[in-house]
Amino acid sequence: MNQARALTIIFLALGAVPALAGEVSVDPGDNGTDIVEDTTEDLDSRSSEVAVAAEHLLDESPDPAELPAIPLADAVTAAGGAAAPISLLDRDIVPGSAQRLSWSATELFEGVPVSTPVLVVNGALPGPTLCLTAAVHGDELNGIEMVRRVMHDIDPSKLSGAVIGIPIVNVQGFRRGSRYLPDRRDLNRYFPGNPNGSAAARIAHSFFNNVVSHCDALVDLHTGSFERANLPQIRADLRNPDVLTLTQGFGSMVILHSTPAVGTLRYAATRAGIPAVTLEAGGPSQLELDEVKLGVKGIETLVYTLGMIKKRRLWAEPVPVYYRSSWVRADNGGILLSDVSLGSTVRKGDILGTITDPMNNARTEVRSPYSGRIIGMARNQVVMPGFAAFHVGIQTDEAPVEEAPVIDVHGDDSSKDYVDGMSE
Ligand SMILES: [Zn+2]
Repeated sequence: MNQARALTIIFLALGAVPALAGEVSVDPGDNGTDIVEDTTEDLDSRSSEVAVAAEHLLDESPDPAELPAIPLADAVTAAGGAAAPISLLDRDIVPGSAQRLSWSATELFEGVPVSTPVLVVNGALPGPTLCLTAAVHGDELNGIEMVRRVMHDIDPSKLSGAVIGIPIVNVQGFRRGSRYLPDRRDLNRYFPGNPNGSAAARIAHSFFNNVVSHCDALVDLHTGSFERANLPQIRADLRNPDVLTLTQGFGSMVILHSTPAVGTLRYAATRAGIPAVTLEAGGPSQLELDEVKLGVKGIETLVYTLGMIKKRRLWAEPVPVYYRSSWVRADNGGILLSDVSLGSTVRKGDILGTITDPMNNARTEVRSPYSGRIIGMARNQVVMPGFAAFHVGIQTDEAPVEEAPVIDVHGDDSSKDYVDGMSE
C-alpha cells in the first residue's frame, strides 16, 4: 500500500480532522537527506541490547487461576483510587464514559492551530491511567491503527481506570508523510520540552504537560525507520523496576533491554515517574496488518495484566527466552536482497541475504555470525559498506542484566557502535 493511500485510510478510519484528508501529500524530497542526517544519530546510540523473547504463543484462553501473579509496577497500581472524573484539556470525562478531545500546540509556531485527537475512555471502576501514544514520528503508521483498534475495543462500563490514546502526536509530520517536524527536527529528541525553546521543544512541552502528565504508565508506539522494519517488540530500560514489571504484562512479545536516548518520550516520562516502554512493530510509511494485530494483542494483554479489564482472551503464561542482539552489517556496497524475513530462525553460517554490485555484477553473501532469530532487518535497497542490515537476537541462558556484553560481529572493535533499532 502506498503511503498516500494509507494516510487517507487512516483519516477515514479515525474520523479525525476530516478537513485534512484532501490535503495529505507525501513529500518525495523528504528521504535522501533525512537518511544521511539521522541514521548517523541513531547509529551512534550505543546502548547494548538484551532481548527477552517469550515464546510459546497460545491463542486459547487459559484458566485465570493458573496464571502467574504478575507483580505490577508500584507507580501504576498505587494510582488506583475512587473512580472520578478526569480533567483533561479543559474537559471533564466522567467515569463510565468515552470522549474524543483534541490537543493543539502548533499555533505556537505556525499561527494556525492544527489539532490532533486525544481519545479518552474513563472506566466506571477505579484504577490506573494507561496512555498510548503513536506517530511521534509522523511516518510511522502501524501505531496509529493499533491505538484506534485498542481504544474502540474498550467498554467504559467494564474498565478499571482509564486509557488515553493519542493516535497522531506529530500531526505536522504525519500530514507531510515525514518522520520529522516541518523544521526537520525530530520531536522525539525534545521531551519533556521547554515552553521557551525551539518549536519542537514547545510542542513537546505542551504535549507532555497537557496530556502525558495525566498518565500512570505509557506505551509509545513506533516502527523501524529508514527502510528498516522490526519484529513486534518492546524496548525498555530493564534496570528500572517499574519499567521491568510493566514489560512483563505484554504476554509473549520480544523484549529488548534498551537505554532510552535523552529527549525521547520514553526517557522523559520515566524520569517523571511514569513507567514507559516503546512498542516497535514493522516499518515506516506502511500499514502492516500482521504487525498491527500483534501489537494490539500485546497492548490488550497489558490492559488485562494491569487489572484494568477482567476478560482474558490472549496469551497464556509466557515462558521467557533471553536473547542478546546484534546488527549484522554489509561489508560491500550494492543492491541488498534478503533471503530471510522478520521472525526467521537462523543458524550460524546461514545466508541472510546477498549484496550485488550493480556495475560489475559481483555478488557477495551476508551470512549470520550466530544462531538466533531475525528481530529487525532492512528492506531490499541499495546499501553502502557498513550498513546495518540484519538485527539478530541470540539466545542466552542469562536474564537481562545492566551491562550486557557487546557481541563482536567482525572480530574487531567495529561492533562497539551499537545500532539501537534506528527508530525510536
Ligand atoms: Zn519512531
